[in-house]
Amino acid sequence: MIEERLSLEVAKEFDRQDPLRGYRDQFHIPTTGGETEVYLVGNSLGLQPKRTAEYLERELEQWRTLGVRGHFEGEFPWMPYHEFLTETMAVLVGANADEVVMMNSLTVNLHLMMATFYRPTDRRNKILIESHAFPSDHYAVESQIQLHGYSAAEAMIAVAPAEGEETISTEKICETIEMHKDELALVMLPGVQYYTGQFLDLKTITEAAHGYGLQVGFDLAHAAGNVPLQLHEWDVDFAVWCSYKYLNSGPGSVGGCFVHRRHAQETKLTRMAGWWGHDQKTRFKMENRFRPIPTAEGWQLSNPPILSLAAIRASLDVFKDAGGIEPLRRKSEKLTEFFMDSLQQTLGDRVHSITPSDPSARGCQLSLEIRLDGVEGKSVYEKLDSMGVRTDWREPSVIRAAPVPLYNSFEDVWKFVERLEECLS
Ligand SMILES: *Cc1c(COP(=O)(O)O)cnc(C)c1O
Repeated sequence: MIEERLSLEVAKEFDRQDPLRGYRDQFHIPTTGGETEVYLVGNSLGLQPKRTAEYLERELEQWRTLGVRGHFEGEFPWMPYHEFLTETMAVLVGANADEVVMMNSLTVNLHLMMATFYRPTDRRNKILIESHAFPSDHYAVESQIQLHGYSAAEAMIAVAPAEGEETISTEKICETIEMHKDELALVMLPGVQYYTGQFLDLKTITEAAHGYGLQVGFDLAHAAGNVPLQLHEWDVDFAVWCSYKYLNSGPGSVGGCFVHRRHAQETKLTRMAGWWGHDQKTRFKMENRFRPIPTAEGWQLSNPPILSLAAIRASLDVFKDAGGIEPLRRKSEKLTEFFMDSLQQTLGDRVHSITPSDPSARGCQLSLEIRLDGVEGKSVYEKLDSMGVRTDWREPSVIRAAPVPLYNSFEDVWKFVERLEECLS
């Protein structure tokens, strides 16, 4: 809890003290009618780093001038281009370089991972998900179950918050795993829940599942680039994420995938295979005897879209310059604390955050419900939007607002709270 009375002046003072304040200037911030927007929707589409254009132009130039030789020539040849991203990406999610690959998109990677890690039998064929799973994850899990000839109604086990609670406690998750330990084949949960902003205790959940011999995968769409992760150390089996939210790599950009080393080295694991997952040394011998690369790259299917990878490389370089996730997390915790305190001071119980108040159980995002008689949350969201305050609305009742430490300021947070107050009075 911050003691002093909060104000625009206090916000500006926090900005002056912020060691990361210079990074805001490295991003293009949208404007409306000549005014810089209060952009709090980096959880949906991260902003464009100014250097991205240069990284893309470099590949366009390579293509213009070298044509097919671009695969092998220049400083960043396309053939190994994905490898230029791996080190920084791996550090951001707490993995070794051989455990991470950027490829495809999130839902595709989720299917690829389930093809390997969901191997149901008549006794064990269930998948544990959460009751409020993101639609794409829900459909992916449902269709995988059906693909194997089981009934989704029976084999999808959904863990829900306890009666009267907004978020799912770690105890509830572990109890549910225990309750179904003999029928479960896989535990598949989010890192940061998209609706509530809850950062799940991935380490404890993984330990609980492994205690019963179950495998665990996480969807890190809202966690990668947002919160510190230790995927290797926590012994997570696999994880998938996208790069266009907190990873600022542009709409629909290529996703990420983690496969723990102890699995990645098992080249006999069943998988959906493609030529880009085949050993680089013999890939072009065209012998049609699949020998997977003994790393996460062994799950690659196709040669990747280089322009998208170039945008990811640009963004990851910004993360690297900023010192990685630790300094960003320090600022993020301060931003959300300031956010919660400003809301409390200015709006009291007219606004309720369903995001955990414990900083270790949340990332950048606060999910806010408007609790004022006769006022519809959605109309408040629309009014904010018309004032140049970008947040998003998630059915049934939440305004999501996410100050992102790379480019948002304490002043942004204060302006949001002030304009929300205007909307409600
Ligand atoms: C953003 C998001 C997705 C999007 O999936 P794509 O395959 O990238 O379109 C999926 N799951 C969750 C939880 C998300 O937050």
